[in-house]
Amino acid sequence: MEISHIEHIGIAVKSLEAAIPYYEQTLGLKCYATEEVAEQKVKTAFFKVGQTKIELLEATSDDSPIAAFIEKKGEGVHHIAFSVDKVGAALTEMGEKEVRLIDKTPRNGAEGLLIGFLHPKSTGGVLVELCENPNE
Ligand code: ZN
Repeated sequence: MEISHIEHIGIAVKSLEAAIPYYEQTLGLKCYATEEVAEQKVKTAFFKVGQTKIELLEATSDDSPIAAFIEKKGEGVHHIAFSVDKVGAALTEMGEKEVRLIDKTPRNGAEGLLIGFLHPKSTGGVLVELCENPNE
């Protein structure tokens, strides 16, 4: 597996509407897209910081993983996403290296990416997302 860059940093927020003004007005970033990812029960808002994005995540239901995260830890950094060439192969390789996988096979993420998560128990406490842009 070869990681080319940090694709995005995922940040859990209670409300996109409440969080976006800090990123736009205080930090001077621009929210260029919002999207609901039904599969993951989240609404997302994206900002570009160079090659890397900030992905704000709001739960759309009480059983969303983001709702559970905020309940346990409060708002804040939720995951780091690394860009890889082929996410399916990367997940297989991580499994072979005894990394606990949340996703054994890729699933659909925001922005048309294929994604898979590694379990924080195997990654020093950091929820890691691997992503592949199938259009690149
Ligand atoms: Zn993400």
